[in-house]
Amino acid sequence: MIEDEADLRVLMSDLLQEEGYAVESARDGVEGLRLIDQRMPDLILLDIKMPVMDGRMFVELLMARYPDRAPIVVVTAVESAPRRAAETGAEGWVGKPFDIDRLVKTVERHLRRPAPPG
Ligand SMILES: [Mg+2]
Repeated sequence: MIEDEADLRVLMSDLLQEEGYAVESARDGVEGLRLIDQRMPDLILLDIKMPVMDGRMFVELLMARYPDRAPIVVVTAVESAPRRAAETGAEGWVGKPFDIDRLVKTVERHLRRPAPPG
């Protein structure tokens, strides 16, 4: 998850960990790319408005570097969320202020799962 607001970062991280997900968080696109260079997650939750490197720039660099990137769900102001998702090429979106059920359902829907054995 890449989110610049500390409160929201901690809240989303706690909620998703309670749901059983392993969550790593970054506060801007630069930190996010650094984490992804270590390991590609199964899903990227992405804020758009962030200092240092915003969500759009992050997605451009991610796509250039990793053709086989994880699915992206943008988390941004509800009025612009669908448009932001379309602009960036993200698979999904969650509007802020977010609803916990919607966040979890959207993560579940877009999560890339490992291929089943055999
Ligand atoms: Mg932000």
